[in-house]
Amino acid sequence: MMRRLKEEILHADLVVAGGGLAGTCCAITAARQGIRVILVQDRPILGGNASSEIRLWILGATSHMGNNNRWAREGGVIDEILCENLWRNPEGNPIILDSILLEMVVAEPNIRLLLNTAVDSVEMDEALQQITSARAFCSQNQTVYQLTAPLFCDASGDGILGFLAGAAFRMGAESAEEFSEGMAPPRATGDMLGHSLYFYSRDTGRPVHFIPPAFALTDISTLLRFREIRLSDTGCKLWWLEYGGNLDTVTQTEEIKWELWRIAYGVWNHIKNSGEFPDAENLTLEWMGTIPGKRESRRFEGDYILIQQDIVEQRIHKDAVSFGGWAIDLHPPEGVYSFEPACSQWHSRGVYQIPYRCMYSRNVHNLFLAGRLISTSHIAFGSTRVMATCAHNGQAIGVAAALCCEHQRLPAALAEKPLLEQLQQRLLRSGQYIPHLPTVDPCDIAPQASIETTSTRTIDEFPSNGKFIVLETPQAMLLPLQAGRVPVFTLVADVDRTAELTAKLMGPAKEGNYTTDILHARLHCKLELGKNQQIRLDFETSLEAAGYVFLVLQPAPGVWLHLTDERLTGVLRLVQGMNAAVAKTSIQAPPPDSGVDTFAFWLPERRPDGQNLALSVEPPIPAFRAEQAINGINRPWLHTNAWVADRDDPRPTLTLQWKEERAVQKLQLSFDTDFDHPMESVLMTHPERVSPHCIKSFRILTDSGQCIFETKNNHQTRRTITLDAPVFTTTLAVEVLETYGAPAAIFGVACFAEAQTP
Ligand SMILES: Cc1cc2nc3c(=O)[nH]c(=O)nc-3n(C[C@H](O)[C@H](O)[C@H](O)COP(=O)(O)OP(=O)(O)OC[C@H]3O[C@@H](n4cnc5c(N)ncnc54)[C@H](O)[C@@H]3O)c2cc1C
Repeated sequence: MMRRLKEEILHADLVVAGGGLAGTCCAITAARQGIRVILVQDRPILGGNASSEIRLWILGATSHMGNNNRWAREGGVIDEILCENLWRNPEGNPIILDSILLEMVVAEPNIRLLLNTAVDSVEMDEALQQITSARAFCSQNQTVYQLTAPLFCDASGDGILGFLAGAAFRMGAESAEEFSEGMAPPRATGDMLGHSLYFYSRDTGRPVHFIPPAFALTDISTLLRFREIRLSDTGCKLWWLEYGGNLDTVTQTEEIKWELWRIAYGVWNHIKNSGEFPDAENLTLEWMGTIPGKRESRRFEGDYILIQQDIVEQRIHKDAVSFGGWAIDLHPPEGVYSFEPACSQWHSRGVYQIPYRCMYSRNVHNLFLAGRLISTSHIAFGSTRVMATCAHNGQAIGVAAALCCEHQRLPAALAEKPLLEQLQQRLLRSGQYIPHLPTVDPCDIAPQASIETTSTRTIDEFPSNGKFIVLETPQAMLLPLQAGRVPVFTLVADVDRTAELTAKLMGPAKEGNYTTDILHARLHCKLELGKNQQIRLDFETSLEAAGYVFLVLQPAPGVWLHLTDERLTGVLRLVQGMNAAVAKTSIQAPPPDSGVDTFAFWLPERRPDGQNLALSVEPPIPAFRAEQAINGINRPWLHTNAWVADRDDPRPTLTLQWKEERAVQKLQLSFDTDFDHPMESVLMTHPERVSPHCIKSFRILTDSGQCIFETKNNHQTRRTITLDAPVFTTTLAVEVLETYGAPAAIFGVACFAEAQTP
């Protein structure tokens, strides 16, 4: 007699297949927007490639590898995850990240999470070209689930829902001609990026033998980059152990995995037994990946296909809902068996918008596309594929799904006004960052208030702390200047060799970028020997518009610039250069006619002994006006967009004041958790658990002095405060009780009369 497995029928508003970061952030966002979500993940934990099964660090538009995207860490749920991970896990332990993701998902009552459950078939309404249900099987509880919903989201990496539903997709590189992409090959190929497997090692304190499994590669020299093996490289640093990009990365994935095991065990055998690494004697193989990290397979077609030019030219899209900023990062398909460099990274001058039309299938009408499988060319995929970008796109889909449910519409209906505007504004309100798009929310009553503060900082003086840096490579201070006469800057230096100092004022050619394309002014000054010299830089020039400007100092051997301990929101010291790990590829000349040119890279300097240059500015720059806290932009962009209090203000307070009494039930506050910090999630350790600019404890008071909220341990960028009942007041005061070190800063305050405001 044939028996049938237990069957359960579940219904929701949205079914998300795949619990990588795209699926997880999509599900959390949709649930918080009030719709019911089923999140189906075929593995025991969430996070996909970021999970402890694979252990990739979450990156996006900010990166320790270097680029010119300042303050570009993604916002919303992925920011919440990264801030929480930094707080709990500055050691970069992947298991802790797993626990955070699980905690955040199960905290959402609107999510039904099915772990160890794989989607394996769909049913369609062929006439409507819509998915009606998906079937999924859990091997742990031997249950088959029938999942029905009006909307589905494919966040499964390889695109299980899209493939089964017949959604249009592509695999392999397009020809250069198809989209006029200069970086694409002359002819279309099946070439993709390959899979990788990592391992971790550990020092046991005593000699450890290693006998390799019989399947390990014995002749390591067949790996063309075997000479690059370094003992210190574990986990993500072994990204180049790559293979399989010229095979079918979906159906041949098990074959690829076995080859990667052969390679990875072979590399470890080489480290332990070749004699070339005597320091490896006490090392044991602590962990070996069992599931390969997949880079590329199917890319599904939406109503728009993102291409190279969108990224390189930073094209503006009316339906922008997200952004990217990783380099166009392409790898040879043969991976370790290729003669070519393991990766080639071509950077855009700044971040680029990602349109909503890339996030739903063009022919399966109720299917959203999330993660690495969104609608891009192979070249553009080289940039959009990183996890923080995938997660941020997932958030856009979460909000879109909620709007579709509210308005009984299909995903494509949101690509046009008026629903498009609702989508963008609601996304911004949910913490999403969309470059060039400020929040304009008619429900927010904060912009109707006048603002008073106990103090407002200017950029006036960064006092010397007695530490120095020698001016060997170009240094810069990135400063938010006003339109009009440029102030006079005075540096402090010790000079042990007579020198000529060249200083320049430089800025971007494109609004909102952080590049040195344009020279505003230059001056030279002769420096005599001596300590504590005041170097006065008066450029005697004016700027037509306010914006970020680089005060660049060219190398001058023998000149020691003084540093300061002072850190300030929206001000950075940068050094020209490139992370050595990618320098050989990142600044190599791009292919002729590729549409990409070369330009200078500037990296932030985060030194514990002094982040910024000691500097005084006359007249001071009024960079932190309180009105910036209600201007709808919650990170530095063109301006600092923050209110910052004086360093010695004993109780920094920002007070909103309305002419008449207002009802307030919900507040949103945005703090400075340093959007320039990538907060790598695993492997890389961080010296701090929270950005020094962040506000640690604060309280909110009404006009009667009633405290309606107080917290003592904040480490998040955004705090949404929902009161049980509305308060009626003419003022609301945000009182800062403590920061993590830097002067108190607030990027945004929003107030709503109703708790339900999405
Ligand atoms: C070796 C390597 C190095 C990389 N380096 C970086 C890096 O440094 N930083 C970075 O940010 N990105 C990096 N990337 C890219 C990045 O990891 C991927 O592009 C990203 O993980 C894609 O996110 P996703 O959510 O679409 O897919 P995934 O992270 O793969 O998540 C998809 C999830 O769907 C699940 N799933 C699959 N099929 C089903 C099914 N039938 N039913 C239910 N669930 C299913 C999978 O188990 C998986 O958990 C790298 C990738 C690789 C492979």
